[in-house]
Amino acid sequence: MTTKENTSETPVKRKKLQRIGVFTSGGDAPGMNAAIRAVTRAAIANNLEVIGIRRGYQGMIEGDFIPLKSSDVSGILQLGGTMLKTARSSEFRTPEGREKAYRQLVNAEIDAVVAIGGDGSFTGALILSQEYDVQFVGIPGTIDNDLYGTDYTIGYDTALNTVVQAVDKIKDTARSHGRIFFVEVMGREAGLLALTSGIACGAEAIMIPESNEHHAQLEKFLSVGYKYKESSGIIMVAEGEEAGGAIKIAEDVRKEHPDLDVRVSILGHIQRGGSPTAKDRVNATKMGVAAIDALLDDQKSIMIGLDNEKIVHVPFNKAVKMNHSIDTNLLDIQKLINI
Ligand code: ATP
Repeated sequence: MTTKENTSETPVKRKKLQRIGVFTSGGDAPGMNAAIRAVTRAAIANNLEVIGIRRGYQGMIEGDFIPLKSSDVSGILQLGGTMLKTARSSEFRTPEGREKAYRQLVNAEIDAVVAIGGDGSFTGALILSQEYDVQFVGIPGTIDNDLYGTDYTIGYDTALNTVVQAVDKIKDTARSHGRIFFVEVMGREAGLLALTSGIACGAEAIMIPESNEHHAQLEKFLSVGYKYKESSGIIMVAEGEEAGGAIKIAEDVRKEHPDLDVRVSILGHIQRGGSPTAKDRVNATKMGVAAIDALLDDQKSIMIGLDNEKIVHVPFNKAVKMNHSIDTNLLDIQKLINI
């Protein structure tokens, strides 16, 4: 779509909600397409026009906009990735970049925006809304499930199931050769994916940034468990683990225990892809519809969340600034079960 040239020094926003924008930003997550579809169709059902903003904030700066009709979001519900593409935009981090983005929104007569992404995307939305009074509502889309105020983020369930399927396969070969595998999963600052997948796969130890007691658990397994009870093992490692990730931890273990057959498997980007699970599709749809309800209700700078299956509104400044603490009950359960 081409946008009209804005020549005025101070662009003025329209008052009434007629046209909304929707975009995906930051890391892609399975289920983002389901959210785009729900946002588009719920908006159209409420007589709103929808503009897809491609490539996150970078596309917003460049005016990379496409009108979305109901038929444009057909057939995407079951697809991983994001039809609107995503990006990490350093230009948007500058005041000049955000001014360009704002002018593009005004030129395209976009009255409000639905942002689908993680904490960085909502931080950017919060800053732009404070500088230019843009109405933003967020939908949490990240495989890390690390946002405060919601039990659930879109993509987490699919990523979890992808990790479990991969580790089950690694376990077969580990058992056959009597090897110890350090399996690294995504999560720069968040260990929930490693913790939950480790429990689902019966990992011998789980190493995450939120806890360091698992070093002792690993040592116990290596010095006692492996030698006397087990002949193989799976150690889950979150990529943000403070000891330095799976490769570094495995190197240290090889030095300490040269007799052990230690291997590393980094699952990498397969964790982001694939068809979303039913749970991700349903929750993305619920959240997409709730985002349009919130915009029509004149809500701004809030993230849609799920608390015990119920839709909640979480102010952006809480969602991005407060920590989503790890479920310590899960840590205790893992310790108890893996003796
Ligand atoms: P994920 O959890 O998958 O990494 P995310 O939304 O946290 O997703 P980020 O790359 O952190 O991903 O943020 C997405 C984009 O939001 C950035 O590329 C940048 O354009 C914008 N953004 C993030 N932080 C800021 C900030 N402090 N100021 C302005 N814009 C920001």
